[in-house]
Parts: sequence; structure tokens; C-alpha cells
Amino acid sequence: MDECDEPDCAATLKELDVFLDDELSASARLSISHHLAGCPDCHGAFDFHAELKIVIGEKCRNEEMPSDLLARIEQCFSTDFDNDGQIG
Ligand SMILES: [Zn+2]
Repeated sequence: MDECDEPDCAATLKELDVFLDDELSASARLSISHHLAGCPDCHGAFDFHAELKIVIGEKCRNEEMPSDLLARIEQCFSTDFDNDGQIG
């Protein structure tokens, strides 16, 4: 079995946010999905990340999230939760 084009866990986790934002190429999405399907660790991280992104996104929209708190959460997860183009 040739697994040369399979992303490893580190590569998968690195792409999670881009994956969630739907900004990956079709082939990159496919290889990430494939890895998630076969890797409980990454799948767990993905679920957590996806859920967190939804919750925080809703709080941002409803202005329930103080911007300094959001900035700290974004820095913690290295993720642009409110999609303002910057982390923090
Ligand atoms: Zn993995």
C-alpha cells in the first residue's frame, strides 16, 4: 500500500482550520477527510475544533464575546474564529 500522499497527524491538524473554512483544494480536502476517517486522534481534535468554531462564531455574531477574550482564545488556538483576517 502506497501511503506517500497521506498527510500525517501533524499535517492534518495544521490544515484543520483551513479545512473548516472550506479553503482547501478538492484533493487536499479528500486526503484530510481520509486521514480523519482512519485516525481517532485527529477526528476528535477535528470535532472539538469544529464545534468550538461554531460556538465562538455564534457568540461573535451575537456580540456576546468581549473582543479581548476572543483575542486570547484565537491566540490559544491559532485560529481566526471571527474571520476578521487576523488572529488576536
Ligand atoms: Zn491523525
